[in-house]
Amino acid sequence: MMESFINRRPVRSECLRCGEIVLSGIAMGLSYRVDPIPLTMEGEIVARLGDRSTWSYLFGQMKHRIEHDVRKTPRSMVVATHKCGSSLIEYFDMTRIHQLNILMIQASRSNEEVDDMVQRATSIIWDALHGKVIDIPDDTVNLPLF
Ligand SMILES: [Zn+2]
Repeated sequence: MMESFINRRPVRSECLRCGEIVLSGIAMGLSYRVDPIPLTMEGEIVARLGDRSTWSYLFGQMKHRIEHDVRKTPRSMVVATHKCGSSLIEYFDMTRIHQLNILMIQASRSNEEVDDMVQRATSIIWDALHGKVIDIPDDTVNLPLF
């Protein structure tokens, strides 16, 4: 008989303890609650040393990363289990920003939530750049940010 595993796509919610935005769902029967911060390889190591699980997001689903996976360069965005007060924002992988935006839009339930997410994402990027001012040439002003 074939075993069946429950999968539920990530849905945006807020942590009831600290109020931070988290993504929660079920991957192969394992429930997860992760920070929407794509991690660099260094960030994943820091997360795992801090006793947090890591997950990769590919084709609309989260996949739990086991030790074997961590040794390989990830093909997709890697995020870590949420831990109140322990943001890994300094390990934000800027190359995954587009994938994060798509994920956050898919994980939101309404347009209001999407607007809120865009604002939060902008603030996350701002924090990650340590408030560094970016000079945008005039001819690119009309391009959408995300
Ligand atoms: Zn929390």
